[in-house]
Amino acid sequence: MEQTEIVKNQTKKKIDTEKIEYHIREILKALGDDPDREGLVDTPKRVAKMYEEVFEGMNYTNHEIAEMFNKTFEEDFDQITDSKDMVVVKDIDIFSYCEHHMALMYDCKVTVAYIPNGKVIGLSKIARVADMVSKRLQLQERIGSDIADIISEITGSEDVAVMIEGCHSCMTARGIKKNNTKTYTRTLRGRFKSDESNGFTQWWS
Ligand SMILES: [Zn+2]
Repeated sequence: MEQTEIVKNQTKKKIDTEKIEYHIREILKALGDDPDREGLVDTPKRVAKMYEEVFEGMNYTNHEIAEMFNKTFEEDFDQITDSKDMVVVKDIDIFSYCEHHMALMYDCKVTVAYIPNGKVIGLSKIARVADMVSKRLQLQERIGSDIADIISEITGSEDVAVMIEGCHSCMTARGIKKNNTKTYTRTLRGRFKSDESNGFTQWWS
């Protein structure tokens, strides 16, 4: 059995889709619409199903996500890298939802860098970690610190950096309506924090 499935089976799902359905129906009423008209009759169910998908990461703690994707390679480590080599995975596409407005964060690109400390993580797992922590009600800066926590736990390395750029629809499509505004955040740990001149910033463009 896949490790992912084991973790999923052990973890009790927390998202209550029936409750979401009920409350979406109430919101439709509060908006002055008729939740029983043809176009809306299945909307609460659809929204609940969508929330279950886009908020999947809320079912798991950072530690549980680390266990889910903790596939690392140790054997050939000495031959493939030395302790100063940096691994960078650039431009991982993610979507998330801001916790202040429950509004979409889109066109987000995540760059993750780490310096291996005896273990290297499968590259696709870094993208999966970024995906999973984004499937929560989030702040852009917390997506960065969540990814850094998990990559650190999986690789045993304290040297992790996460850079994110993203558009927040609560800023581009409502309120101040600055369509082209992007938000940039970076989370620096270990050597990335203490030695900013070590060259990783070249990946930040
Ligand atoms: Zn917002």
